[in-house]
Amino acid sequence: MMYTQFIDGALTKSSGDESWINYNPANNIPLGEVCQSNEQDIEAAVDSSEKAFHIWRTKTGAERGRVLLKAADILRSRLEKIALLETHDVGKPISESLAVDITSAADALEYFGGMAAGIHGEFFDLKNAFGYTRREPLGICAGIGAWNYPIQVAAWKAAPALACGNSMIFKPSELTPATALELANAFMEAGAPPGLFNVVQGDGRVGAMLVDHPRIAKISLTGSVPTGKKILTAAASQLKKVTLELGGKSPLIIFEDADIHNAVSATLLANFYTQGEVCSNGTRVFVHHQIFDSFLMKLKERTEKIRLGDPTDPDTQMGALISKAHMEKVIRFIDSGKSSGATLLTGGYIPETDFKGRNITSGNFMTPAIFTNCNDSMDICKEEIFGPVLSILKFDTEEEVIERANNTSFGLSAGVFTNDIKRGHRVIHQLQAGTCWINNYNITPIELPFGGYKQSGQGRENSLAAIQHYTQLKSVYVELGNVESPY
Ligand code: NAD
Repeated sequence: MMYTQFIDGALTKSSGDESWINYNPANNIPLGEVCQSNEQDIEAAVDSSEKAFHIWRTKTGAERGRVLLKAADILRSRLEKIALLETHDVGKPISESLAVDITSAADALEYFGGMAAGIHGEFFDLKNAFGYTRREPLGICAGIGAWNYPIQVAAWKAAPALACGNSMIFKPSELTPATALELANAFMEAGAPPGLFNVVQGDGRVGAMLVDHPRIAKISLTGSVPTGKKILTAAASQLKKVTLELGGKSPLIIFEDADIHNAVSATLLANFYTQGEVCSNGTRVFVHHQIFDSFLMKLKERTEKIRLGDPTDPDTQMGALISKAHMEKVIRFIDSGKSSGATLLTGGYIPETDFKGRNITSGNFMTPAIFTNCNDSMDICKEEIFGPVLSILKFDTEEEVIERANNTSFGLSAGVFTNDIKRGHRVIHQLQAGTCWINNYNITPIELPFGGYKQSGQGRENSLAAIQHYTQLKSVYVELGNVESPY
């Protein structure tokens, strides 16, 4: 099979001849060949997006909203097919892609589709005059995606962009080329003009072409901090607008009065969902010394029960890491943790069989790992691993844990577990992170803004906050009297 581009309403082959093989992370069997878009393809995508933008911007918000809502229905009606594509591409359990990935993409289309008719400016009463503002679209926006939540990332960018009247060219990660094409198809079938949502394929070079293109008005990246820095630097030469959703090394703080069962549940969610390949994961788990031993015992017990194996099996709870190279990187972190003196309490090895005894040595599987005896300066506690590896850190006081939690250049997320309502808010208000949870973790409803502080990003996705990142504000002054002029 060939993963194509989607340009001007149709699946198209690249005009170049560079391509690579996309592998299934669960067995490293080729899923198909992906064609790398070249400059000619980008030019065709930009021409087509520009044409679509001029049609789309004249539609009313209600008309645009109807297309988005219909696209959401189409995604929901193809839930099983798209979820399976995502599972094959990413290696995540089918139970997750059925419950979260496609649903979350559809939620975004519904939220922004429903809101499209309500995007408006303001009116200002002035002396012998009035003023008003208009929220106008930016033009062609480029979305560049990471590989862990491919269709969700695409929809979180496309939904607000299109609702605001822009068109979008989306480049999925080179490791997950499949489901952005499904989203493009859904938009077309829902009545979008051809070119409203184009998909190009390729690695960072294609992303860079989009960033550099003078007719592209805005870039929205979901990816790593180093890529975010490169994009911001390149975009600066044209003062292009940029939204960055980047990585993290987030703290999850468990106080002594927390509901321990819930805290353990959240710690598992915060570290092992999608094999730990989640940007907002709470990988630095700070546990109060009074409950340290009992928390650790329960966490280890439940971690060891996680059903790791064939991602297409509905009973599987943890699948395969995205690639052999990424698995090796995660294993290097395990080695680094051990050599720096931390204790590997459980997991962190490559298993031969899955929870049903099937041989899984051809896939990129690694058992969920817990490190104890950690300190804040170890690499495993400072760097984003992006795999199923959590570090437990002991703390004594509230002041101490806040300071240690904030001692990082990242600032994507943070969580606090406590039954003291005052302490919950007090602590969260002092944590330097854009997306926070009290007594839960990694819940990202479309209604709440999502994004990072410090080096974890800029701008916000989801919620009303996304609208300002996909529109520009025009102020209009209307005179009702005479022009008063000194000349
Ligand atoms: P990555 O930075 O390697 O790649 C992200 C995307 O950027 C890919 O599509 C890649 O092809 C493209 N790219 C690479 N170099 C580029 C360049 N110079 N110019 C333009 N585009 C370029 O990240 P990844 O490995 O795909 O994803 C994992 C990272 O993404 C982790 O750090 C994770 O935390 C982060 N992430 C963040 C969020 C969030 O919402 N904050 C969500 C998911 C993943």
